[in-house]
Amino acid sequence: MRKIAILGSTGSIGTQTLEVVEHNKDLQVSALAAGSNVRLMEQQIRRFRPALACMKEETKAKELRELTADIDVRIVSGMEGLVEVATEPQSEVLVTAIVGMIGIRPTIAAMEAGKDIALANKETLVTAGHIIMPLAKEKGVRILPVDSEHSAIFQCLNGEEPRTVHKILLTASGGPFRGRSLKELAAVQVEDALKHPNWSMGRKITIDSSTMVNKGLEVMEAKWLFGVQMDQIQVVIQPQSVIHSMVEFEDGAVIAQLGTPDMKLPIQYALYYPQRRYLPGERLDFTKLKSISFETPDTEVFRGLALAYEAGRQGGSLPTVYNAANEYAVALFLQRKIPYLTIQEMIASAMKHHQVIARPNVEEILAAEQETYEFLESRW
Ligand code: NDP
Ligand code: MG
Repeated sequence: MRKIAILGSTGSIGTQTLEVVEHNKDLQVSALAAGSNVRLMEQQIRRFRPALACMKEETKAKELRELTADIDVRIVSGMEGLVEVATEPQSEVLVTAIVGMIGIRPTIAAMEAGKDIALANKETLVTAGHIIMPLAKEKGVRILPVDSEHSAIFQCLNGEEPRTVHKILLTASGGPFRGRSLKELAAVQVEDALKHPNWSMGRKITIDSSTMVNKGLEVMEAKWLFGVQMDQIQVVIQPQSVIHSMVEFEDGAVIAQLGTPDMKLPIQYALYYPQRRYLPGERLDFTKLKSISFETPDTEVFRGLALAYEAGRQGGSLPTVYNAANEYAVALFLQRKIPYLTIQEMIASAMKHHQVIARPNVEEILAAEQETYEFLESRW
């Protein structure tokens, strides 16, 4: 029996992880954490019987305790509760399916407790990769990518010498606004940005996909996961989302991973790595695939991608500012308080204003996050 804990069990990745658990009788859930969806958490507790569950606010935890009074489950709340879920003694793997930098502390705590990390929460690696990757080595734990592109790269690297990697070709769908001009993007509404052509995901990452900030975060995520330089990672638009990413080796060989867009594949691969297991679902039918096409991203329009390269090249606390400014701006855009293009303007302006700290510790990362929020609040 392989026991797992999940941070963000009520979200898109969280619920798909639980679907993977349902299909595999040798997986068991030991702990779950969510934000505010008490009803769904109750159902998950009844179905999966974890020993421990956490809600963001104590009021929600209280509500959940009442709803599950007939079940033997301990219910906690807040950051302390998240850390308890992350370090639950029975579990071997922590699936980080929470959104945003809030994942940093529980992820570090889980690694210190010897857990492998199935990492979906890319914001943690983008902002604290210089802490997470050496810690994984020190503690002998694995960081197993769940993000589809990174899982693809991970699969392409199977059995290969890391030093023979010449280049990573990170594919992107280009999102719903591929080919649009800045003028056209100025009028984008929340509904338009929430329509992703190929993937169904949480709200924040769907907006990030439309701005290509998601791809920017993924370039930085790949830099840490695979120990390459920013300039060894090339973003290639592949609008059909059939190729999930590719690796070019020293001898010129390119290896790609292909499949239908289904996050259950990378989730299951991370949970069983290096084994492959049967996964029900649609298969790629090459006779029906009309074409696989490629384009170069337009970084003048999707400035968030160019800014990510700048943040990743400089490193230190700048990726934190990039990420925090984006988290702040996307939240405001979703509340219809700022226009669409202000997202990239906010990122650029916060990065310009910031004094970079070369190797920030966790406190300094969280301080840079706070400072970014305060700066943006005072400016907009
Ligand atoms: P969702 O918004 O769908 O889910 C987020 C989850 O986190 C929910 O369970 C939410 O709880 C919970 N949560 C939010 N804030 C807190 C908090 N403060 N404390 C505890 N729990 C909290 O996001 P996604 O599943 O789309 O994304 C999760 C992560 O995975 C992100 O980092 C994203 O970039 C990454 N990712 C997602 C992909 C996808 O296909 N969705 C693909 C690749 C990466 P509640 O809803 O109960 O409030
Ligand atoms: Mg991805």
